[in-house]
Amino acid sequence: MVSDTDLGQRLSKAVLARRDDLIALTGDLIRIPTLNPPGENYREICDYLDRRLLKSGFDTRLIRAKDTPGDSEKYPRWNIVARREGTRSGDCVHFNSHIDVVDVGKGWTTDPFGGALIDGKIYGRGACDMKGGLAASIIAAEAFLQVCPDFAGAIEISGTGDEESGGFGGVAYLAEQGYFDPKRVQHVIIPEPLNKDRICLGHRGVWWAEIETHGEIAHGSMPFLGDCAVRHMGAVVREMEDSLFPALARKRTDMPVVPEGAKQSTLNINSIHGGQAEGEADFTGLPSPCVPDSCRMVIDRRFLIEEDIDEVQEEIRSLLEKVREGRENFSYDMREMHRVLPTMTEKSAPIVQTVAKAIAETFGREAEYVVSPGTYDQKHIDRIGRLKNCIAYGPGILDLAHKPDEYVGVDDMIQSAQVMGRSLISLLVQGDGAATNGE
Ligand SMILES: [Zn+2]
Repeated sequence: MVSDTDLGQRLSKAVLARRDDLIALTGDLIRIPTLNPPGENYREICDYLDRRLLKSGFDTRLIRAKDTPGDSEKYPRWNIVARREGTRSGDCVHFNSHIDVVDVGKGWTTDPFGGALIDGKIYGRGACDMKGGLAASIIAAEAFLQVCPDFAGAIEISGTGDEESGGFGGVAYLAEQGYFDPKRVQHVIIPEPLNKDRICLGHRGVWWAEIETHGEIAHGSMPFLGDCAVRHMGAVVREMEDSLFPALARKRTDMPVVPEGAKQSTLNINSIHGGQAEGEADFTGLPSPCVPDSCRMVIDRRFLIEEDIDEVQEEIRSLLEKVREGRENFSYDMREMHRVLPTMTEKSAPIVQTVAKAIAETFGREAEYVVSPGTYDQKHIDRIGRLKNCIAYGPGILDLAHKPDEYVGVDDMIQSAQVMGRSLISLLVQGDGAATNGE
């Protein structure tokens, strides 16, 4: 009989022995440019993962999220779900990674789709967010299968699209199809780049809305004959400065949100547009003199688990009403664009306990618990899948996501893969999380 510590050590060694494989795999994934928008090469990366995981003994399924936002013959929304059954019944542990990456942007000194290895770091768009996490989870599963061929339950690995644009053609679609039904999957780890020794329990909520102020068009030389919608919007901004931003700063949360500045309610004015549309880049003429009759503002409100979404809306509504009372001819419309409720897994949840134990074993110190300022696919697993036992845990530094010269450290990936592999031992060999089955 092999003792538990021996198993953990053998797993850690098996991960370490795959270092070159891990580097090659991460590089390969980065070299498939899966830009979103528009959603390029989803099929190519799914085919790549398909070949890899079939070889490791997984059953695979390629699933197209037909007719979801952005899905077209040119940019089909492909996803992959791979499953490897154990030798007896037990829990299923699912690793979910998004395959899409955001626009490259300016300022790179390395090839964003080169996957170069320089001084122990792999560079490229998506290196940390989150192809490094995907590669680490595959290596963790393969090392686990070598060390523990006789295990209970099942392992699943999914690669899903569109996380960066809301996840509707990815995890949301799979959740609607029942892939995250708690009868089928009991534990979910999303290897987003939250640092190798931190467990992310969830995220704040999002409320996006558009506010429009109305005016009346007139000749710009006689603005008094019209009504300037931009000035009305200016009054809205002033009221936000005077009352709303200070009020938001006072709303603090008990959620362990990082960074510190996000431990409160926040609002970003995403855009303001009033008056004539800006000319094309090559247009050299002047605008015509008109008083703007419409001004639109998009707001991005992030809210806390302690806040109610109705109150969040009501707060903006009452601000606009206050402006209306104090201002002649002020009229407005408000339209919700998007909403995501906050989510946070309990620290007592089996997946949290298991990964915390694996972090302590790997690093010799306690795990840190965090909550993400922005959302990720956990929202769909929670709301649509009704599966609460879910965390984000993976290698990479969140601050590097979406930036030029994005990279992931090879050692970080190795250690994260060791934590993931040790978590599989706890859940599928030692049966630590069995209590959740069927919940
Ligand atoms: Zn991500």
